[in-house]
Amino acid sequence: MKSGSNKLKEFFRKYRFRRVATIVAGAAALRLLVWFLIYRFASNDRTRTYEIYTSRVFPVITQPMKSIAKLFPFSVGETLVIIMAALFVAGLVICTVRAVRNKKSARIIAPAPKKPAGFARLLVMLLVAALLIGGNFFVYGGINYKSLTFKELSGLDVKSTDIGTLEKLCLFLGQKATEARQGLPLDEKGFVVDSRSAQEILSASPAGYAKASEEFPCLSGKFTPPKAAIFSEIMSYEQIAGIFPIVFTESIVNKNSPAYDLPSVACHELAHQLGFAQEDEANFIGYLAAICSDDPLYVYSGYYSGFCYAMNKLYNFDRDKWAAVWNSPGIDSEGISNDMRRSNEIWDSYRKKAEVVSKVSEAVNDSYLKSNDISDGTHSYGRVVDLLIAYYSASGENPFA
Ligand SMILES: [Zn+2]
Repeated sequence: MKSGSNKLKEFFRKYRFRRVATIVAGAAALRLLVWFLIYRFASNDRTRTYEIYTSRVFPVITQPMKSIAKLFPFSVGETLVIIMAALFVAGLVICTVRAVRNKKSARIIAPAPKKPAGFARLLVMLLVAALLIGGNFFVYGGINYKSLTFKELSGLDVKSTDIGTLEKLCLFLGQKATEARQGLPLDEKGFVVDSRSAQEILSASPAGYAKASEEFPCLSGKFTPPKAAIFSEIMSYEQIAGIFPIVFTESIVNKNSPAYDLPSVACHELAHQLGFAQEDEANFIGYLAAICSDDPLYVYSGYYSGFCYAMNKLYNFDRDKWAAVWNSPGIDSEGISNDMRRSNEIWDSYRKKAEVVSKVSEAVNDSYLKSNDISDGTHSYGRVVDLLIAYYSASGENPFA
């Protein structure tokens, strides 16, 4: 039986928890509401949103998290998820054990309490965590969906195009990819390989941005190289190559991808660190940063990714022209298609093992993008081809002339 002083102590402990929980939950809810309203109305004046939030506030408020992430060789965000999940499970176990004990003693001494206080506390903590995570989405980058786009900032003239231009783009990128592939080490099966670890490859990703920013100043900024994901296996089942989880601003890349896919994915994720939220634009910026790198693997990865996107689009419109590109002189069709096949085999092997997981993941990403006003959802990744055509149409290297 509890003494009077113990009862008093418990009363104050409960009271303190309630008071602290109310203050923290209230502050988190208010923060969520205020930033949601800013997000909601940010698109009314996208220029001002860019000038105030994207170019000034966003780099400053994301820097502490990026600096913390830089201190560790592993993903801090994923580690926090593991710690929080472990604490939640531990809390659940402790509450269950206490509830069972209370029930047993209550049978002898007094009626059992209607609601065990431990479970209520756990629910309050979950609510606070949800409010903080929800708020983080708007604070740390969700508003960038409502800001000026790279197209607007760069002045690239993106317009509808014809099959002939698309075919020329495919030929150009195929030849560039072929040139870049020459001299890269191959394994016994003829796939491009690299002696560096996935993390070492990813750490080289910011280098190309310096040169890319000479042409497009909006691409300059401070970067934290992506981390090789601890949860790469789970990401593979979800068909996710890389992610910039806005709630913790640390880029993560799936290390199960082949070496030649890692650079373009890493550079894509760094584009999100600059505040460019649209996926087609992150693809294009990632392409540009990769081909601007001095690292031969990056250069190949950039041209290879651009070639893959362009060829997929051409395949959908004209299969004869698609086949003609593959058979063109100057394109290493065997080598590049080998790499494509290898990449597809890896992703397909995970998809076949858990098709439901990959479909749910795709649907979630599609809904997420659509909820942020990207009407074509996951199809928006492929619009990178329009940006490539606009870019090369305006460059001195114009392959369409
Ligand atoms: Zn992205």
